Amino acid sequence: SVLERIEEVDDSVKAYVTLTKEKALQQADKVDKSLASGETLGPLAGIPMGFKDNICTKGIKTTCSSKILENFVPPYNATVVERLEEAGAICLGKLNMDEFAMGSSNENSAFFPTRNPWDLDRVPGGSSGGAVAAVAADEAIYTLGSDTGGSIRQPASFCGVVGLKPTYGLVSRFGLVAFASSLDQIGPITKDVTDCALVLQAIAGHDPYDSTSANLPVPDYRQALVPDIKGLRLGIPREYFGEGLDAEVKEAVNQAISKLEELGACCEEVSLPHTEYALPAYYLIAPAEASSNLARYDGVKYGYRTEEAKDTVSMYMKTRREGFGPEVKRRIMLGTYALSSGYYDAYYLKALKVRTLIKRDFDRAFEKYDALIAPTSPTVAFKIGEKANDPLAMYLSDICTIPVNMAGLPAISIPCGFSQGLPVGLQIIGKPFDEVTILRVAYTFE
Ligand code: GLN
Repeated sequence: SVLERIEEVDDSVKAYVTLTKEKALQQADKVDKSLASGETLGPLAGIPMGFKDNICTKGIKTTCSSKILENFVPPYNATVVERLEEAGAICLGKLNMDEFAMGSSNENSAFFPTRNPWDLDRVPGGSSGGAVAAVAADEAIYTLGSDTGGSIRQPASFCGVVGLKPTYGLVSRFGLVAFASSLDQIGPITKDVTDCALVLQAIAGHDPYDSTSANLPVPDYRQALVPDIKGLRLGIPREYFGEGLDAEVKEAVNQAISKLEELGACCEEVSLPHTEYALPAYYLIAPAEASSNLARYDGVKYGYRTEEAKDTVSMYMKTRREGFGPEVKRRIMLGTYALSSGYYDAYYLKALKVRTLIKRDFDRAFEKYDALIAPTSPTVAFKIGEKANDPLAMYLSDICTIPVNMAGLPAISIPCGFSQGLPVGLQIIGKPFDEVTILRVAYTFE
């Protein structure tokens, strides 16, 4: 039925870059046979899902929605793919994204923009726009996306679904094509909080293939699925409710906060004073890391190589000029500039210090509060083309999500109402490795 649904709506939503129908049917057959022979099935057996196209799938194209990786077929699976296969998942295919996960609208895909299923003239958000639109349009039961500065949560809020960015180090990044390695994290995109807990359970946990993966026991996330938040202390960070926040979005978030209070949580305003510096610091750190990570695409090791070049150096240059889109080039230029000698201390090192201050703001708030409540994005989904030529306006749509990645914290976005007939997202931010508490708060809205 999900394949039929894809056939029906994907021509207009355009969530998938690659469909693996045959493989999906084979996997489904295998589950059927195991069931018939009385074998114990994995916890996600038979459930059709998809991966954002920056998660490596063995034998299946992984393009990062970039011309430079258009025909790249990985020889191995990402750890999350292995874990979901073990759990019995059925992979439907690969989902569209902003090129190399750089963007907030999916308009930076080298192939085509994905559309918001609620209003096809609007963006689904980004960069995991395809992965989120697929869940919202019933073209997958759940998907995995990646979040470097908001790329799971902001589109989840734009499309009215649940999106979780786990604590940095909880989910293995092995096989995730790197954008900004100190910020990237894979997470689930689901229709509800229960599914989110179940998918997280399947993908979380230590992986020796990722040196930043935390070696900690994984809690049972189902314990969070109880409708009880009595006595929880919730902080409402003042800085997330400032200028630029749409009045109706604010209203929807405030109503959600009132509901949490009615259910017995204690909500209080708190200040995270360095919030305003998160965005500028992010746009130094993320491009700096990206410029280094993207150096590997040189026409030799992976994917695209220019047709004609007279020598090696011009081959590198032409390949990169033709293979990367404008936003990726902008980030590489910003990043190499920030890292160049003479500017390193003034920009990159300064940004790292700011990052520490942002982390300390959160540490201080978490001495008093169990979780923080904020909007996910200052606005609802905007029109396709509305911000495409204004990078700064585009960057601002992640103002509420970026500080969380800078501090490595977990955060979930859940639907909390509507503005102009479009979904609004509520963001719940937790202490490091305390996904249980944010899932518990989120579950009260189920
Ligand atoms: N929109 C932000 C950016 O363009 C975040 C992207 C992401 O989380 N991958 O960098």
